[in-house]
Amino acid sequence: MTGQQRRPSAHRIGPAAVAHLPLRPLWLCRRCGQPWPCGAAKLALVVEYQDAPVSLFLYLAGCLHDAIDDLHRLNPSVTGSAADMFDRFLGWPARHTHAYRVTTFEGARTEEPSP
Ligand SMILES: [Zn+2]
Repeated sequence: MTGQQRRPSAHRIGPAAVAHLPLRPLWLCRRCGQPWPCGAAKLALVVEYQDAPVSLFLYLAGCLHDAIDDLHRLNPSVTGSAADMFDRFLGWPARHTHAYRVTTFEGARTEEPSP
């Protein structure tokens, strides 16, 4: 059987076209295979949500919820450390998104004065 040919388009949609998105339910990067969000995914997310850091947290919180659900279903021991999962999804933007921290803490403080 020599008549079979692979579609050229299948090759063109190669790694270059694959974004750093999570491969569920494993939650590994589709492109580089690292635990998602990988470094490239974090960069892309920071750029995409640079004007809406709170939206980034909301998106990641949803991802964290789904990831815990998926990984726990696959193997309960994988999600043994909730702190690690939390840091993986929500810890890094909290450390790098200064605007979010500042507005959060200042917002909490300005609301503290007695009524
Ligand atoms: Zn990646």
